[in-house]
Amino acid sequence: DTIGANLDRAIAAYPDRDALVDVPSGRRWTYAEFGAAVDEVARGLLAKSVAKGDRVGIWAVNCPEWVLVQYATARIGAIMVNINPAYRAHELEYVLRQAGISLLIASTGHKTSDYRALVDQVRENCPALHETVYIGDPTWDALTAAAASVTDQQLAEHAAELSCDDPVNIQYTSGTTGFPKGATLSHHNILNNGHWVGRTIGYTEQDRVCLPVPFYHCFGMVMGNLAATSHGACIVIPAPSFDPAATLHAVEQERCTSLYGVPTMFIAELNHADFATYDLSSLRTGIMAGSPCPVEVLKRVVAEMHMEEVSICYGMTETSPVSTQTRRDDDLERRTGTVGRPLPYIEVKIIDPVSGVTLPRGEPGELCTRGYSVMLGYWNEPERTAEAVDSGRWMHTGDLAVMRDDGYVQIVGRIKDMIIRGGENIYPREIEEFLYGHPKIADVQVVGVPDERYGEEVLACVIPRDPADPLTLDELRAYCHEQLAHYKIPSRLRILESFPMTVSGKVRKIELREGYGA
Ligand code: ATP
Ligand code: MG
Repeated sequence: DTIGANLDRAIAAYPDRDALVDVPSGRRWTYAEFGAAVDEVARGLLAKSVAKGDRVGIWAVNCPEWVLVQYATARIGAIMVNINPAYRAHELEYVLRQAGISLLIASTGHKTSDYRALVDQVRENCPALHETVYIGDPTWDALTAAAASVTDQQLAEHAAELSCDDPVNIQYTSGTTGFPKGATLSHHNILNNGHWVGRTIGYTEQDRVCLPVPFYHCFGMVMGNLAATSHGACIVIPAPSFDPAATLHAVEQERCTSLYGVPTMFIAELNHADFATYDLSSLRTGIMAGSPCPVEVLKRVVAEMHMEEVSICYGMTETSPVSTQTRRDDDLERRTGTVGRPLPYIEVKIIDPVSGVTLPRGEPGELCTRGYSVMLGYWNEPERTAEAVDSGRWMHTGDLAVMRDDGYVQIVGRIKDMIIRGGENIYPREIEEFLYGHPKIADVQVVGVPDERYGEEVLACVIPRDPADPLTLDELRAYCHEQLAHYKIPSRLRILESFPMTVSGKVRKIELREGYGA
């Protein structure tokens, strides 16, 4: 199926059920209304001469129009390019040029960013860009008004020409380890993945999915939007960008059954001063993914947010994204200790990163994955594609993992984050999990920093629970002494107020490393 054909089925099956709710503005759409709104934007794009394969950029914070554009571009075979709402001028220019975007749809601005001013700054350097439409502005009204000049018949003719193997999306990676890469994905890639993620959670038309995660990232647009609409569930938008109180409010008001987040979002919600005042009893499930989930946080999510069935997923933008997921009846041990097992029709193997030989279960190595989910390639970057996807169509993820005897996968860390101290391999994750137990530590990241004697040394970056009484290096070392091998014990400590983050909510360890000593 194409994404458009799949949406038509949900519209036919559940015309009167909610498809989309925007809590901040109070606007809501049933499936029938949502289908009509999507078609209006699709016809508007055709009226603006957007053709199959043209790149349409979306540079916006979470809002209903984002979702309409997602489905409208898919309906007409345009390739939607997701642009990170946190970008500044030079990053915006890079993406506009790299993807050859001809039409850009943008928010007018958010918080301190004035998107209009930023677009004006870069427009001259982007010859392919001939029009920008701003959401909630007369240019958006002009887009939907232009729809009148295109008939439903013409729209249907365009839809009939599409194939599920056509590219539908260029999604940029989070940029956790460097500059983001644009993964080109087909209908087949992301629709199947959304379907299987939703099916594994057990979505039906009764579910209401609260999405505080950014739409520009696969977590929001595939695991959220596509997983919901392919099962007739409802998408609930709590706020334009992550806000813990707005998220809790949206769950209560809309009686959401499912809530998404990266671990740091759940931490912010659980620790919110008014947490106990919200009625979260409608929740049953949700997804926690994107970065390692601390055991303590997961236990609180299950106990205090009623998310007994919370699902842990592992994946990456390049693989649509999800490769492994926990199942509904998995026990807490599997939910806290693993990232689940491969989804149907996805293969996973663990290899020795140097020799490429497949390793037996239980041994750590690089996780590789293969199946319908592997991207078409990085947009216009055949060399980087060839580095990531080998001739057998295996995606080399750059993540270190162990396949257990029961087929469940444990993520050990990223190859790039592994610390090699005096020839010993150290996995930061193990030390972080241990340090979470210290009463003076609110959050912690462990990275390797250059050292003359050992090559690398272990640095712990700590956000203290009480800034007036931060942890000392001696206290840290004493705490580790009994429990960790001596070479793993951090020799350096940095006290911070916060960590540098990507918009998708991940800690940029690269900055913690580079910033050290500065
Ligand atoms: P970039 O590739 O630009 O450096 P990124 O890899 O963070 O950024 P994404 O595609 O958003 O970009 O994230 C995929 C990565 O996130 C995976 O390769 C893995 O390292 C990490 N990840 C995803 N899910 C989990 C999880 N459940 N547990 C641990 N790590 C995870
Ligand atoms: Mg990556």
